[in-house]
Amino acid sequence: MSTAETPGSSNFIRTIINEDLHSGKHDQVITRFPPEPNGYLHIGHAKSICLNFGLATEYQGRCNLRFDDTNPTKEEDEYVEAIKQDVAWLGFAWGEQPLFASDYFAQLYRWAIKLIEKGKAYVDSQNAEEMRANRGTLTQAGTDSPYRNRSVEENLQLFEKMKNGDFADGSHILRAKIDMAAPNMNLRDPAMYRILHAQHHRTGDKWCIYPMYDFAHGQEDSIEGVTHSICTLEFEDHRPLYEWFLKELEIFAPQQIEFARLNLSYTVMSKRKLLQLVNDQHVDGWDDPRMPTVSGMRRRGYPAAAIRSFCERIGVGRNASWIDLSILEDCVREQLNETSFRRQAVLKPLKVTITNYPHDKVEELEAPNHPQRPEQGSRMLPFCNELWVDRDDFMQAPPKKFFRLGPDREVRLRNGYIIKCDEIIKDDSGEVVELKCSADLDTLGKNPVGRKVKGIIHWVSARHAAKVTVRSYDRLFNQENPDKAENYLAALNPESLHVSEALVEPSLLAARGGETFQFERVGYFTVDSKDSGEGQPVFNRTVTLRDAWAKMK
Ligand code: ATP
Ligand code: MG
Repeated sequence: MSTAETPGSSNFIRTIINEDLHSGKHDQVITRFPPEPNGYLHIGHAKSICLNFGLATEYQGRCNLRFDDTNPTKEEDEYVEAIKQDVAWLGFAWGEQPLFASDYFAQLYRWAIKLIEKGKAYVDSQNAEEMRANRGTLTQAGTDSPYRNRSVEENLQLFEKMKNGDFADGSHILRAKIDMAAPNMNLRDPAMYRILHAQHHRTGDKWCIYPMYDFAHGQEDSIEGVTHSICTLEFEDHRPLYEWFLKELEIFAPQQIEFARLNLSYTVMSKRKLLQLVNDQHVDGWDDPRMPTVSGMRRRGYPAAAIRSFCERIGVGRNASWIDLSILEDCVREQLNETSFRRQAVLKPLKVTITNYPHDKVEELEAPNHPQRPEQGSRMLPFCNELWVDRDDFMQAPPKKFFRLGPDREVRLRNGYIIKCDEIIKDDSGEVVELKCSADLDTLGKNPVGRKVKGIIHWVSARHAAKVTVRSYDRLFNQENPDKAENYLAALNPESLHVSEALVEPSLLAARGGETFQFERVGYFTVDSKDSGEGQPVFNRTVTLRDAWAKMK
């Protein structure tokens, strides 16, 4: 077992685990990732996944994937399947089967009875409003329910009837009998079971009472022998309650460790809000490439390795912090720079005619797939006398340091010849529509003698280029913290999606869904796995080559 010498950077959770292993408190590490299947996973979940599964791998232990499906009204199989897919895609395995809180419903029910029998739980019949009023406030003790001292017998009978479906939703509730004056509000006789006549995605209508999250979570961890139950800070105040349940039930008590949740700028992460974005069609589904969901990031072309390295880089702490979206984008760039093949694509085309090149001639120029990795091979680029270059690579009156095309200026065509701009053709409105250039045909793969040409621009053959759809994405929100806006929907960036056409080298027509390329000098683009047709790839801009937002600040 690895203890002191663990890979990865240190964090306070590793320190706790190391101590537990040294002291013999535990001889293995069992963690879990417990999503509620009421939405798709987002980048915050990814942090928790990388942490829990990462620690299990590091200490050769186990991490369970356990669906916390105690609220049937919001949970669906669609979400279960999406979550499984996302966890697997992130590179983690959960053993033979995923686990479900609903597998433990019978056990939790027996435990509820045990607490009733011990005089530690009672059926309350106040309505919701009375219960709220009697709960007290942070500065004021609560008031005991008039039903608090029901006999064990009566409580058992009522709870049985709750289970049998004899009562309407909300008419009774099972509560723990702790202390209505506890300074920690979570200990003021919290609810354990409620009546809910609803179809459960796995147990159907078998149950019409459901355990509350707080009554279920700690016991589920206990059943699974979870050694370190890692959760976000908002559960710190619930820890005494979980410990109370485990102690009263006399069962194994996992150690809960809280960490600060991930907050990402220009993003919302509440599942309720993400669901609203989907339902109200502000985005094109949970996997819209602008969404902070794992499935959206995958569709956009973020590699799983980039998300893992992001989660490692931001670390784990106990202080709430905001992480800038640009850190995630940097991780994506770093990863894609290593792995993606280079291609040429022109997004804002300007015609170039090579006047000294025979117009019936076509040459195939060899271009490496990856400049730093010759072992990745090459592809051929058709070259002829008619080309497209990018409009931004030409200026009529360029400043000195503009090492691209301008009157009488020379530039190298990437993987091709050096050309010189001899003549500028304009239309009636004065717009530049074409450049007449001459090529130095002695410069293929070598520098000209006696002069230096600094700039390199990308291009495609106008007679061979393929037209494809390109979707450029910007941040979904244009405010750093959309949750702070009066209405987060007002913070939506109206220009988060820009659809255009690009002229690309013909080899890209064979690109398949999910493949990512670097369009040289432009950015990284991934073939959309949903909207692309055979020979008709649609490209999603995964990330620009540089951080455009950083420049604006
Ligand atoms: P909601 O958005 O409804 O509050 P949730 O994001 O807490 O829900 P769960 O399905 O309960 O959704 O989350 C599963 C696990 O992921 C929990 O253990 C939770 O602590 C963790 N998690 C959720 N959001 C974040 C986040 N932003 N950063 C780190 N971990 C998170
Ligand atoms: Mg939650």
